[in-house]
Amino acid sequence: MIGLLGGTFDPIHYGHLRIALEIREALDLDEVRFLPCGIPPHRSVPGADAEARAGLVERATAGVPGFVLDRRELTRSGPSYTYDTLRSLRRDFGPELPFCLILGADAFAGLPAWHHAADLLGLTHIVVAHRPGESTEMAPPLAALVGGRVTARAGDLRAAPGGCVMWVDVTQLDISATAVREQLRRGRDPRFLIPDAVLEAIRTQGLYGRTSAMPPTDRG
Ligand code: ATP
Repeated sequence: MIGLLGGTFDPIHYGHLRIALEIREALDLDEVRFLPCGIPPHRSVPGADAEARAGLVERATAGVPGFVLDRRELTRSGPSYTYDTLRSLRRDFGPELPFCLILGADAFAGLPAWHHAADLLGLTHIVVAHRPGESTEMAPPLAALVGGRVTARAGDLRAAPGGCVMWVDVTQLDISATAVREQLRRGRDPRFLIPDAVLEAIRTQGLYGRTSAMPPTDRG
């Protein structure tokens, strides 16, 4: 059983890394694949280009057992629809392997607007991580989409390639890429919100604004 964590990762931060680790452990996943999007379908243009964002994910995940960078969305043209990504993963891994698409509660709330939303559970399970400030109540369109699919038993995920929705308790870290970018733009030091190796690369490449004004990290 594998986990899939898609995102803009603009930049990757400890909120992403912690949910990936905790969900990997909670569900005993063989691996978590990080899938940085090329062109995000549901949001404005990222602050860093796709290769740079993927490079930051590569640094953040290097050497972490079970963490894998998957670049397939970077090489596709057009918006990075999760539906297309899941079909591509199914071609690689076959129809039987259980997939767990990991979503923060905010992303899960927006699911009804996703491309081919009604077909996603045919390709994967959805595992939802609580996120500070996000309610666990499902609005009617979301309840209509996933109603009856919610389970509290990890065994249900192992028993089928997809089709279930499960909430998982994680350490709730109130970290967002937006806040990290804002700190960088204002010349503040975002260390301890993102890995040092990521911060170092941001500084070296001059990403996200006034990074040259920041104090060096221990590795800098
Ligand atoms: P931004 O602030 O730019 O919108 P973000 O911090 O939400 O970015 P994304 O790359 O858009 O990061 O998120 C990828 C996935 O990780 C989404 O499913 C999102 O809900 C989830 N996620 C991001 N940060 C957290 C967090 N602190 N806790 C739980 N889930 C998170």
